[in-house]
Amino acid sequence: LKVSDLVDEAYKRINQVEDKVQAFLTIDEERARQTAKVLDEKLDSTKGILYGMPIGVKDNIVTKGLRTTCASKMLENFDPIYDATVVQKLQQAETVTIGKLNMDEFAMGSSNENSRFQKTRNPWNLDRVPGGSSGGSAAAVAAGEVLFSLGSDTGGSIRQPAAFCGVVGMKPTYGRVSRFGLVAFASSLDQIGPITRTVEDNAYLLQAISGLDPMDSTSADVQVPNFAAALTGDVKGLKIAVPKEYLGEGVNETVRQSVLDALKVLESLGAVWEEVSLPHSKYALATYYLLSSSEASANLARFDGVRYGYRTPNADNLLDLYKNTRAEGFGEEVKRRIMLGTFALSSGYYDAYYKKAQKVRTLIKQDFENIFEKYDVIIGPTTPTPAFKIGEKIDDPMTMYVNDILTIPVNLAGVPGISVPCGFDQGLPLGLQIIGKHFDEATIYRVAHAFE
Ligand code: GLN
Repeated sequence: LKVSDLVDEAYKRINQVEDKVQAFLTIDEERARQTAKVLDEKLDSTKGILYGMPIGVKDNIVTKGLRTTCASKMLENFDPIYDATVVQKLQQAETVTIGKLNMDEFAMGSSNENSRFQKTRNPWNLDRVPGGSSGGSAAAVAAGEVLFSLGSDTGGSIRQPAAFCGVVGMKPTYGRVSRFGLVAFASSLDQIGPITRTVEDNAYLLQAISGLDPMDSTSADVQVPNFAAALTGDVKGLKIAVPKEYLGEGVNETVRQSVLDALKVLESLGAVWEEVSLPHSKYALATYYLLSSSEASANLARFDGVRYGYRTPNADNLLDLYKNTRAEGFGEEVKRRIMLGTFALSSGYYDAYYKKAQKVRTLIKQDFENIFEKYDVIIGPTTPTPAFKIGEKIDDPMTMYVNDILTIPVNLAGVPGISVPCGFDQGLPLGLQIIGKHFDEATIYRVAHAFE
């Protein structure tokens, strides 16, 4: 089998399903074929484990000379002049980038309905959302258009769409993967991570993109273990914590049952589990929206019509240039977050909101640390329900936000978390969330693989 054949297969599949799924914002067939040709000439002895694999990249990760839009009018025609570190690493790993994947604008959303360009659909049921914000990344893998993809996760954006689309999605420990070249949403929460069909694939892809990067001062100088070596199937004696807040109110009965069934499987393999409490998780949603919007308001200040992307044609002076560029370039949800964040950071309110939220964030992090003193992993559902209908929540931001209630605390604590498929509700996939200690993705993979 040649790499060119694999790439052929990917485009064949894209031609079959893409008009229904609509996962891609940009497809660069010529470039992919060129890469495939170069790879086909490599000697066998130099080929790595990911050699020749077709991959898709979320459209907030910059790719040199390949349009990177963040699904925003603001960057509709933006051609980056450099590659993100993860993209360079993918090239070193000899993968073939097939195209750029749809998302909620600037990664703000849970359904892909906030994309300025198109609505990606859930391959399991085209009337349902694929989740978000990495909805294109999850849908493309679920529909077989690519073998792997990269997403980003600020409050659940890898794990929630992975759950909705029946694939495996990992949000690594904060600092595990370089953010250089990821268009920032909330810098203290954002992480890039892999979305794949199997846990094994996921371990290999995370391996390829991890590690210290001098270009990202928040990337960590921590040894990257051999993740694939953790896939032993052995979970004997493993201690699992199940937070009661994760199986309580708001979580649908089938979802609850699927988690209890998964725990039974792990028990039969020799693991033990106990109920615990994350007492501050009830404040996680408010804390997250305050902090992430504050950081977003600062990060998105760079889109001023001067340096990047869209510039309004309707301005006679500098102030109007700023105002009209931003009014025309950003969508509703992005503006909502910028206004909320700007308010929270404004003088007179800073202590009451931003500072307070930082304190609560510390308490949430301590909840996790307390549990990890006694247990190896935390398990619960990824989402309270399976994929919802397109249009169902779009007019009510609060119901949309509540969908992330189970994934958000993990970002606030900075710990790693995965979603693996664990059953169905009305023909729609459900996800099991496995959360680990800082930099202990290996144990997460071990549990996920044993369960898979
Ligand atoms: N849905 C959440 C939000 O809208 C999470 C987004 C993300 O993880 N990028 O902020």
